[in-house]
Amino acid sequence: MSDTAHSSMRTQVGIVGAGPAGLMLGHLLHLAGIDSVIVEKHNREHVIERVRAGVLEQGTVDVMVNAGVGDRLLREGMRHGGIYLAFLGQRHRIDFEDLAGASITVYGQNEVVKDLIAARYATGRPLYFEARDVRLSGFEDGQPGIHFRSDEKEHEIACDFIAGCDGFHGVCRPSMPSEKWRAYEREYPFGWLGILANVAPSSGELVYSLHQRGFALFSMRSPSVTRLYLQCAPDESLDAWPDDRIWDELLARLGTADGWRPNRGGILQKNVTGMRSFVAEPMCCGRLFLAGDAAHILPPTGAKGLNLAIADVVILSRALAAFYQDRREDLLDSYSVLCLRRAWRAQRFSWWMTSMLHRAPGGDEFDYRRQIAELDYLMSSRAAMTSLAENYVGLPTEQR
Ligand SMILES: Cc1cc2nc3c(=O)[nH]c(=O)nc-3n(C[C@H](O)[C@H](O)[C@H](O)COP(=O)(O)OP(=O)(O)OC[C@H]3O[C@@H](n4cnc5c(N)ncnc54)[C@H](O)[C@@H]3O)c2cc1C
Repeated sequence: MSDTAHSSMRTQVGIVGAGPAGLMLGHLLHLAGIDSVIVEKHNREHVIERVRAGVLEQGTVDVMVNAGVGDRLLREGMRHGGIYLAFLGQRHRIDFEDLAGASITVYGQNEVVKDLIAARYATGRPLYFEARDVRLSGFEDGQPGIHFRSDEKEHEIACDFIAGCDGFHGVCRPSMPSEKWRAYEREYPFGWLGILANVAPSSGELVYSLHQRGFALFSMRSPSVTRLYLQCAPDESLDAWPDDRIWDELLARLGTADGWRPNRGGILQKNVTGMRSFVAEPMCCGRLFLAGDAAHILPPTGAKGLNLAIADVVILSRALAAFYQDRREDLLDSYSVLCLRRAWRAQRFSWWMTSMLHRAPGGDEFDYRRQIAELDYLMSSRAAMTSLAENYVGLPTEQR
């Protein structure tokens, strides 16, 4: 007989994953008086220090503020009224406020996560870091359970529902029987080499650039930290990219004829990310509901992943509140359809931005000239710019 200690508990909603989706869901449920337990595989520092998204749609900012976790975001977030598109050595501005009546806010995902973890601790509700061997049970039979090991103990959580907020590589989606869902997927033949640089941003707004040598993006995380990306091969080795080569390439791809270029500074962090579009349909199975990257991922060009994750959990929290307050199941039944409609629109936009701004390996001059013509048309048409602006600032959570 095993002498491992066991712990059993019961909650209303068991949440797997303490990324933006899981933490925000836990908080929204708390505000609705619904109990939850959050189970996270990594330790707290790892979860906080992962540098990823940074562009928040106005709808995401509103959710954070209305949920009482937006004070620091309002103080420190950098509000942007537009972006630049650069091609043929010129920068062109797309004015979101004029075209779509909204703005975006640059605030690092790690700051969002930090604020949400602090809010979770303040509620006193459970959040387990370093949960090992997380496993699900019973969600198809109306008796959902989450099992994991932590502190040399075997834990078992009995719950009414499981929220699978454990990202693309998590355990929840693969726990759904393969005949109950389908994946729609596209891999892109390039990736992004991203750096964080210890230097003040030289532009107040993001700059997306299509250059003969490939795509580059100028972005920022704070008034003293710049975030930059270069199109590269999906399996690019960082060994081939000493700091000087990265800067030379960034300056070549981003610098414009008016003399603008990113400020050069010490590189704090570098990484390579592949690019993929992925959607799981439906986003639920029995009493398991997927949210965020567990259900869909997008190429980062459209800055949609984090925003979609937050939109999903807003819809899920409302559906769960309707269940507990009024015993209504209709919102749970429509959860997947509602979220997928938004997710596919975001996929379309992210795919379009990615295709317009990246050079396909082996792509010829015809492709490049066609892409330049598309950008040229975009900048000459208020209708085309409005379409980009509307999608970039984010569709309303309540869909039209
Ligand atoms: C380089 C890069 C740049 C990006 N830029 C943007 C951007 O500008 N704007 C934007 O909106 N989005 C962007 N994204 C996407 C964005 O980061 C994700 O969409 C977002 O993190 C999704 O949140 P999530 O909570 O669904 O998933 P995650 O953040 O992946 O969180 C999932 C959590 O579950 C945990 N977990 C995994 N497996 C298990 C398990 N078995 N048991 C328990 N826990 C588990 C993970 O450790 C993690 O903490 C970017 C992504 C990358 C990689």
